[in-house]
Amino acid sequence: MTVNDDRFHDHCGVIAVYGDPEAAKLTYLGLYSLQHRGQESAGISASDGERLVTHRAMGHVAEVFTQDVLKSLPGYAAIGHTRYSTAGDTDLLNAQPLAVSCQKGQVALAHNGNLVNASAIRRDLESRGAIFQTTSDTEVIVHYFARSRQAGVPEALAEALDKVVGAYSLVVLFKDSVIGIRDPRGFRPLSLGRLGSAHVLASETCAFDLIDATFVRDVEPGEMVILNREGVTSLRFAVPTQPAQCIFEHVYFSRPDSMVFGQSVQTSREMLGRLLAREHPAAADLVVPVPDSGVAAASGYAEESGIPLRFGLIRNHYVGRTFIEPSQTIRDFGVKLKLNPVRKLLEGQRVVLVDDSIIRGTTSRKIVRLMRGAGAREIHMRISCPPTVSPCFYGIDTPTKKELIASSHSVEEIRQFIEADSLGYLSLEGMRQAVGDTQGRYCLACYTANYPTTIQEPLLALRNRD
Ligand code: SF4
Repeated sequence: MTVNDDRFHDHCGVIAVYGDPEAAKLTYLGLYSLQHRGQESAGISASDGERLVTHRAMGHVAEVFTQDVLKSLPGYAAIGHTRYSTAGDTDLLNAQPLAVSCQKGQVALAHNGNLVNASAIRRDLESRGAIFQTTSDTEVIVHYFARSRQAGVPEALAEALDKVVGAYSLVVLFKDSVIGIRDPRGFRPLSLGRLGSAHVLASETCAFDLIDATFVRDVEPGEMVILNREGVTSLRFAVPTQPAQCIFEHVYFSRPDSMVFGQSVQTSREMLGRLLAREHPAAADLVVPVPDSGVAAASGYAEESGIPLRFGLIRNHYVGRTFIEPSQTIRDFGVKLKLNPVRKLLEGQRVVLVDDSIIRGTTSRKIVRLMRGAGAREIHMRISCPPTVSPCFYGIDTPTKKELIASSHSVEEIRQFIEADSLGYLSLEGMRQAVGDTQGRYCLACYTANYPTTIQEPLLALRNRD
């Protein structure tokens, strides 16, 4: 059992390198930059032009890859994946890249996102004799690809993707090429970069920075980019549809040093904080972020309000995942293990406490109590997005609807629950303004419950259960 940290969890990170003799090593380095997107397992598949070799294991990137493992991954093309389980059980079988041999040769695939019709098509495939190796939704894409009668690889992939609905940013490795794909709504990010004569694809541009690659452009929703000896070829595999890029990538998931959906994440988060200060001012002495998630928004709030920013909560970065018995008494230590208040700064002060979300409310209440215990006189909680009222089906691990406190409580009721002196959430309009969304290109479903796709009954029942 792990300490319940009351957060939405990251999903997965993908990276690919084509055209460099050290492709696997570059992929490995890039995975370090994507570690925040998934910490349960990591894997790399590499091609030397003749065959694919894959290594996957449970654990962080640093634990999974040794020098010997990297030596066993030769070649000029590689793909990598870090995983946090969102669909399928958490075990090595579901770690990615998923590698198979089929009539089209060896193929390895790494997926960021979640399909919303995977269980129905899986039942359909199983009724026609398909045997699945994993419980992950990604495998249905591999099955459809392997079964396709299309002779060409891009055409066979397009045929497979035509059957699935949901979020997928994919990198796919063949012995002589890498293909990057973004679903027609573009839920998850995927960017194209360049490193000398090599090309790179990654979930976030912070991976490019680490390996000195330069950002070229985002892969477009509904686009397939093929990286091979001829360079980069772009194909459209789906009819254009209204994009639904995940706004939570800007609010919380992506690293602030990344460019996501064409905009700096740091800039978005500071703007979220600025607009929050305009919408919900407070008479206070200090602005204190909940580290690390609230730091950028708190700095925007402080600049806009003129109230000084102080780091009144210190995060212990070395806790990681803490395995303890799940009794409530012991669980309560979870927040204290991670955060400690700075009494010297807080004593007698009126504090604006800035965070990026309230999920169940239990962690926020513990933090408020911690700060009062350290002498804070007033605590004005400010949240840099609207109330989270509905679960995600597109690759983010969220609690059930019932567990989301805002699904059943008013802002005043939440304020009382977390024991703050005041509580203010950024409005939906403010959030859209902060990311420059003038054309409705973002998914906002966890704040509005208006999902951009149909969601299958079994998934709905799972997330809406009591
Ligand atoms: S439901 Fe929320 S977390 Fe999921 S894709 Fe939409 S905005 Fe992102």
